[in-house]
Amino acid sequence: MNDKHIREERAEQLARAAEQLFAAGVMSHSGHANLSARLDGERLLLTPGFVRGLRPEQLATVGFDGEVLDGELQSVSAEIIAMHSAVYRARPGVGAVIHTHSPSATAFAVAHRPLPCRTEPMLRFGQAEDIPVVPWGPRGSDVSVRGIAEVLERRPTTAAVLLANHGLLVFGPDAAATAHLVVAIEESAEAEIAAAAIGGAVDFPPGAREAARAAIARVAS
Ligand SMILES: [Zn+2]
Repeated sequence: MNDKHIREERAEQLARAAEQLFAAGVMSHSGHANLSARLDGERLLLTPGFVRGLRPEQLATVGFDGEVLDGELQSVSAEIIAMHSAVYRARPGVGAVIHTHSPSATAFAVAHRPLPCRTEPMLRFGQAEDIPVVPWGPRGSDVSVRGIAEVLERRPTTAAVLLANHGLLVFGPDAAATAHLVVAIEESAEAEIAAAAIGGAVDFPPGAREAARAAIARVAS
């Protein structure tokens, strides 16, 4: 497959993933999100500053350092390139990154509470551990980006982080798998909050998360 075809295919996957997020009801009232996919040569495809009704040809190609190589980006999107690049740099196997303000996951981010892994979908879609919270820093700032890089280094197998007082950042092998994980995480956050009213969520039996993590590692290797 040549470069142009790869770009077109990944752009279509991103547009479909954006649609899936709306269809699944995991977007916040504002509809705010940004999605990206890795291209070769330290480049990525990035949503232009909106995701509702996104068409594949509206995605921009940008360098990891922020240079816009093709297409147009609204200034709000230019600010978040570093947030996406930090994930691609830290995780060579990651092919797509999605940031949302999914309401229940964001409740955990606002409360500075890691989201425990206590539901089957979270295990199945690749997050077999608690989702850590990255300390707050202004959107796209050095402080925020450094915080993400530090947490990814400390937690080498997490596929998501909560951004304190902000939202959710999820990553995976491709756009579809990453969107599925966003949905699983939002469902888990909803279930945790609902379970709190009836005595609180309970952990998996000992060994269950470790077994799932081992299975994920086998698939990934
Ligand atoms: Zn945001």
